[in-house]
Amino acid sequence: MNFKNRFIELGPEFYQGKTPDPVTDPYLIDYSPSAGKLIDLPPEADKDSDFLERFSGNKPIEGAQPLAMAYSGHQFGSYNPRMGDGRGLLLGEIQNQNQEMWDLYLKGAGPTRFARGFDGRATLNSSIREHLASEAFNGLGIPTTRSLAVIGIRELIYRQRPELAAILVRVADSHIRFGSFEFFHYNGQEKNVERLLEFSIQNYYPDIAEESDKYRIFFQRTVQRTAKLIAKWQAVGFIHGVMNTDNMCITGTTFDYGPYGFMDRFVPNHTSNHSDTHRRYAYNQQPEIGFWNLNKLAETLSPLIDTEILEEEMKQYQPIFNRFYREEMSKKLGLAILDSEFTQLVQEMFQLLHDQQLDYTNFFRFLANYPEASCSIDNLKPWLNRYLELAQREDISHEERKTQMDATNPKFILRTHLLQTALDKALKESDFSEITRLRILLENPFQDQPEIFEEHEIEHYAQDTPEASICRQTSCSA
Ligand code: AMP
Ligand code: MG
Repeated sequence: MNFKNRFIELGPEFYQGKTPDPVTDPYLIDYSPSAGKLIDLPPEADKDSDFLERFSGNKPIEGAQPLAMAYSGHQFGSYNPRMGDGRGLLLGEIQNQNQEMWDLYLKGAGPTRFARGFDGRATLNSSIREHLASEAFNGLGIPTTRSLAVIGIRELIYRQRPELAAILVRVADSHIRFGSFEFFHYNGQEKNVERLLEFSIQNYYPDIAEESDKYRIFFQRTVQRTAKLIAKWQAVGFIHGVMNTDNMCITGTTFDYGPYGFMDRFVPNHTSNHSDTHRRYAYNQQPEIGFWNLNKLAETLSPLIDTEILEEEMKQYQPIFNRFYREEMSKKLGLAILDSEFTQLVQEMFQLLHDQQLDYTNFFRFLANYPEASCSIDNLKPWLNRYLELAQREDISHEERKTQMDATNPKFILRTHLLQTALDKALKESDFSEITRLRILLENPFQDQPEIFEEHEIEHYAQDTPEASICRQTSCSA
């Protein structure tokens, strides 16, 4: 692997240099070949006999210069000056054969200077959750950090009870968070805010490096990417659960999967995070929180960019979000004429989804098949007729519309009960096969894969969430 470690050049104020703590007897839980491809690794992890030793941190990886990054951030609205990579290590940045750069990162590699007395480890449960969500998001085509592998370690760690630990091997375009800027800003180190900004422009937007107003363009792009990302979350029904500013990546990539969830029955104020009692991070709050978080980032840049300019860019957030969201809804419904009738149709749709307690994901798959697939809910019929009327205004055939919609609306999502089954098998029986199967299923969430899954399995994976698991929440420590 061709390491080009750039972050380390920023100097010791930006990180603590530290190697991963050794572990006993690492074992493979799952490996994602498509994530491996990003850093030129073979499709099977065990083709490299040292894989587990190297990626668990037991043996050094040639060229890697591991470090724990400094950052702070706003957690649930309050500033926490003491954060940073307490259990994560950036091993370095790799340039692949296509000249793309990828961060290689371990999560759960032992305590660092930023650990504040915590153990520096991650639970097997949370690592599997992040792994599957990352790879599912990639399948959905939504910007996300990737998960190369989950590696189990024979160590018990203590949360509410003793739990198995693991290491997540993350591959990402960036690990710079809004909180990375906040760390230097609130420590009064404006020079380092500027250096981080220069670093980000240099590495993520080299095309603007020579522009005189590159700082402004950087912020503009961050606003755009964040708005676009959250529009995609809303469209697919994803609830992040912990949109703290340390979990917001400046490249607009979904970052740090914790107590996330996918909407099953449509409940707009649902929060997947059991600890989020005030519903700050509920589904319908996410666009607003994106704005709030960008404001915190803007604050850190205010000594470098005119306040008026920052405000002007911030004003663009809402219209950009609306535009992207409308685009997403247009694709989901297979309708291209976006007039006031379309807007009304969408509004009525959300009301119906809510009132009729419908499954958000399966509704759109049903819609693509309507009217061939019949509808058993009388209350829905007037809306469906209206939908068909609008569809008839369009230039495309019913068949074409269905094809487009089925390429946009997933048939399979990471439903809590499916995830729970995989977790139970892993934790209780050390059987990791269901994790691998879900990863493969969700790598292509728009299509059946009959060569891998039997018909009854496909049906099982695509079913509405069973009553007992609807709107299930996850606690932060899970
Ligand atoms: P997260 O909930 O993963 O976004 O982490 C929030 C903060 O807590 C970050 O600074 C983490 O590095 C730190 N943290 C979370 N869990 C641990 C742990 N087990 N050991 C050390 N630091 C941790
Ligand atoms: Mg975090």
